[in-house]
Amino acid sequence: MAIQLFVPNFRIDECLAEIRECLEKGWTGLGFKTNQFEEAWKAYTGLQHAHFLSSNTVGLHLAIELFKTKFGWADGDEVITTPLTFVSSNHAILYSRLTPVFADVDDSLCLDPDSVAARITDKTRAIIFVGIGGNIGRYHEVLALCKERGIKMILDAAHMAGTRIEGRHAGYDADVSVFSFQAVKNLPTADSGMICFQDADDDVRVRKMSWLGINKDTYARTASQGAYKWMYDVEEVGFKYHGNSIMAAIGLVQLKYLDGDNAYRRQLATWYEEQFAGQSKIRLVKIAKNCESSRHLFQIRVKNRDELMLALNEHEVYPGVHYRDNTEYRMYASGKGQCPNAHLASSEILSLPMHMRVTRADTERITSLVRQYAAE
Ligand SMILES: *Cc1c(COP(=O)(O)O)cnc(C)c1O
Repeated sequence: MAIQLFVPNFRIDECLAEIRECLEKGWTGLGFKTNQFEEAWKAYTGLQHAHFLSSNTVGLHLAIELFKTKFGWADGDEVITTPLTFVSSNHAILYSRLTPVFADVDDSLCLDPDSVAARITDKTRAIIFVGIGGNIGRYHEVLALCKERGIKMILDAAHMAGTRIEGRHAGYDADVSVFSFQAVKNLPTADSGMICFQDADDDVRVRKMSWLGINKDTYARTASQGAYKWMYDVEEVGFKYHGNSIMAAIGLVQLKYLDGDNAYRRQLATWYEEQFAGQSKIRLVKIAKNCESSRHLFQIRVKNRDELMLALNEHEVYPGVHYRDNTEYRMYASGKGQCPNAHLASSEILSLPMHMRVTRADTERITSLVRQYAAE
């Protein structure tokens, strides 16, 4: 039987019941379930603020745009970022006409604080840290650099739903963290995301920015009833980036299962680790000691990645690669050659199947194939 990298697990009847409520009420848009989901997310994570969006990608754009306008950053100012990420993280910088500056990664595949320090200039305004696979890496050292220099920390927490660091949910100490609830993330909806600011004013403002700059949400206007529903003001040229109640309805259900699902992902990781123990051809990407990872990914490194990938595909096992070095893309060629660790990792990494339908027997089959085909 074929084993895919990701297969989302939806609690179908419960999701349909939540969606049914939206349909019966005649409320599928902003407000209603989106408010409920924001409250549930805050209660779950302990984060102070949360605003539900149509994706993580738009959240990263909003984060940068909000800070740029708030602090008067100029076009061309710099944001330090990683080449090992989904392009969303880096597109967000370009959307706001800022300059991505690529720093290298360490063995965790997250940003290396030494490389980050070497890239800081008097034009550095923010750092985008990606907690790859749910791992926190050496984030706290990068955060310390930000604090010393008044640089904003933007945590791309797309992989981090359910990641805890010393018992606290990821994001509690970032200026802003942005989560993804895209179809194959740990908390899958279809497409949506959450933006969580540290500062209460930023949370107020992002609610306007995500709804075209309008200063009241539709639901609040409807609830207030009567005349004057249309009497909102438009305070700035915002975007249409907010989430909707159908996605939030699915999110509310999926959130209940997130910890249980992540515990199973950690179990899968433990099985993979045990089965790879004592061999030299396969390097495992280590999780930081203080981090209880969401285990969005289980990544290994091998010398003959492309060959191994094809061999596994022959056996109907379909792993993934997270990610191709972004400086290989034409849009980010400016960073080419600056991040040798990321570049090498990009040719060696492989993400093994991680989802609720992978069994212990599957992990045994996968690891024995990997051991068979990995080169010395
Ligand atoms: C999935 C992902 C995103 C984008 O999330 P969307 O919700 O699909 O916009 C951004 N960054 C990383 C690291 C991701 O994996």
